[in-house]
Amino acid sequence: MTQLGIVIPCYNEEAVFKDTLAQLSELMHDLINRKAIAQNSFLLFVNDGSSDTTWDLIEAACANDPLCRGIKLARNVGHQNALLAGLHHVKDQCDAAISIDADLQDDINVIVEMIRKYEEGCEIVYGVRSERKTDTFFKRFTAQSFYKFTRFMGVKLIYNHADYRLMGKRALQELAKYDERNLFLRGLTSLIGFKSDCVYYARKERMAGESKYPLKKMISFAFDGITSFSVKPITFVLFLGLFIVVCSCFAFIYILASYFFGWTIPGWSSIMLSIWFLGGVQLLSIGLIGEYIGKIYVEVKRRPRYAIEKLVGEHDDANIS
Ligand code: UDP
Ligand code: MG
Repeated sequence: MTQLGIVIPCYNEEAVFKDTLAQLSELMHDLINRKAIAQNSFLLFVNDGSSDTTWDLIEAACANDPLCRGIKLARNVGHQNALLAGLHHVKDQCDAAISIDADLQDDINVIVEMIRKYEEGCEIVYGVRSERKTDTFFKRFTAQSFYKFTRFMGVKLIYNHADYRLMGKRALQELAKYDERNLFLRGLTSLIGFKSDCVYYARKERMAGESKYPLKKMISFAFDGITSFSVKPITFVLFLGLFIVVCSCFAFIYILASYFFGWTIPGWSSIMLSIWFLGGVQLLSIGLIGEYIGKIYVEVKRRPRYAIEKLVGEHDDANIS
């Protein structure tokens, strides 16, 4: 029987925590009673430096329910790092781990199907949104453009899959070998390989509280997703540069011809246009290259991605790693 660990990153989630805990623990008890998962399965809440009462709620939950475990990170490190901290922690403590957001926008009823697929031999099972009706038009449009653009850039992503997925022990151990600081987990899991499958569900609205991904964070996350997995943007800039050089060769011939044949051209507009256009292209190129250099800078420092301050609940291995 599969020993399941559900990893839930929580950042200022006091508004939804009680409901989330009630729903997940009911599901876990039900699955244990039906012998669908092993008795020592657990819920692991990762507190990502919340400034509200989330950690107190996690501690209380761990004191009341032996199914619950908690990790308190020393500070806010962002969703991806918090999730990674949880997945690293459970990699030797369960057969399979499911990651899910604390607001339960993702349908927990497909967990049974995820486990079934895992038991049939899939090492990774992706939760995929079959529709995005609850998202605003803007979010739907930007998300779809993002998936199309990343595919165009050569990044393999599962369409409409966020971070709701099951990973078996082997996949978790492989994930732990990836040592990068610019984390984009959904891109990494596609790189790991192994047999995988998808389960489909309709995404719900957030139960309460606010999204922790405002537009600014969403854009930088999308940008990270592309620049951490593809160097194609730099290649495009190179070709853009080449194209402009070729164009300017033709322009040079035209300018020489007009000089020799005495064609008079007003000049001003063409000069202004080329200054602005080339200035723009140069800035864009330098900025883009700078972005990659910035990433290298972050990677070479090899700073730890998270620090665990405290563990609560029954952890199989109480070592703080
Ligand atoms: N989260 C986190 N650290 C952060 C921001 C978010 O651990 O710095 C968690 C948050 O508590 C939630 C998940 O990441 O469990 C996804 O956040 P949210 O639901 O706000 O994102 P959205 O669904 O709006 O994209
Ligand atoms: Mg959410």
